[in-house]
Amino acid sequence: MKVDLAVEPLGSWIQTDGKPLIIAGPCSAETEEQLCETARQLKALGAVHAIRAGVWKPRTRPGSFEGMGEAALPWIQRAKAETGLPFAVEVATPEHIELALKYGVDILWVGARTTVNPFNVQEIADALRGVDVPVLVKNPVNPDLALWVGAFERLAGAGIKKLGAIHRGFATGEATKYRNVPMWQMAIELKSIFPQLPIIGDPSHMAGKRAYLNELAQMAMDLNYDGLIVESHIDPDNAWSDAAQQLTPAAFGDMLDHLQIRQVESENLEFQGVMDQTRRNIDNVDRQIVEMLAARMALVERLAEYKRDNNVTLFQPDRWKEILKTRTELGQRLNLYPELVEEIYKIIHMESIRKQTEVMNNQPAV
Ligand code: PEP
Ligand code: MN
Repeated sequence: MKVDLAVEPLGSWIQTDGKPLIIAGPCSAETEEQLCETARQLKALGAVHAIRAGVWKPRTRPGSFEGMGEAALPWIQRAKAETGLPFAVEVATPEHIELALKYGVDILWVGARTTVNPFNVQEIADALRGVDVPVLVKNPVNPDLALWVGAFERLAGAGIKKLGAIHRGFATGEATKYRNVPMWQMAIELKSIFPQLPIIGDPSHMAGKRAYLNELAQMAMDLNYDGLIVESHIDPDNAWSDAAQQLTPAAFGDMLDHLQIRQVESENLEFQGVMDQTRRNIDNVDRQIVEMLAARMALVERLAEYKRDNNVTLFQPDRWKEILKTRTELGQRLNLYPELVEEIYKIIHMESIRKQTEVMNNQPAV
């Protein structure tokens, strides 16, 4: 599926001098001093293009800090005036949009708990009709790509052109080291549906803990993301929300200094030659993989015909166990992840059973 969104390039609404877009700021605007001091220190790094701050906080459970609301908006105006940096705020209702725009918020984002609900997203899109403001959309909490895609379609349908995606990871119900599992392939798929759409990585909400921010930010850069949004607070341990994942502006500056930003392609001719040759070799190996799959499937078909003609059952568990064991062991000896070989063989086996069932149900030609 490829849908055309009339997305304007990032550079049309924020100046980054060709560098990845860096948005940083506290999870929540807590006090005027906390917000303005964080913004000042981030500005002093010289590498931040916009400040983020949560004003309305959608909390999964009631009773946690739910944001300062409208009271925080004049602080944003002051921090903007002091730093000259544009501000980004999360909006979840038409009322939030109206207030944010009234106080001169420059960039809006739709949070993960809002993207999951098409009714809310449509209300937001309707409220934005005719407004020319950049809108970033976080992935939905659950790994459902269609909800993310649908949110862009709704916003684009309302005429919003300055669009971007924020990849903040997914809640899958499985216990992992990260607060939200990245599932990078989801963002890659989104990018293949909307090639023009900028994607910004949110390592803070993926990580949940400071210790994992570097590796996640680096991964986003290695996947050629267009930028990062990172939570930074002058006193992270005492933050009113997401304390464990926020960084002081100084620590954030340190993280940026250590990020390796690789070029997408190199102009170097020798490099291009090696790339071309290697890609041709990969094409060749891929062709062999597909041919081998077809050859394997032809054998399965013959086997199925033979089973059918001799009245033998289709599925023999011991044989499947042996296949799985020997193939993953071989993979391991060849330095492949055992899970990789296992997953591939599960798919092959499923197709093999499907094929055999088809053969079994087809009577032999007489
Ligand atoms: C946030 O950015 O502070 C936030 C609430 O994020 P998410 O919507 O990704 O949970
Ligand atoms: Mn947060």
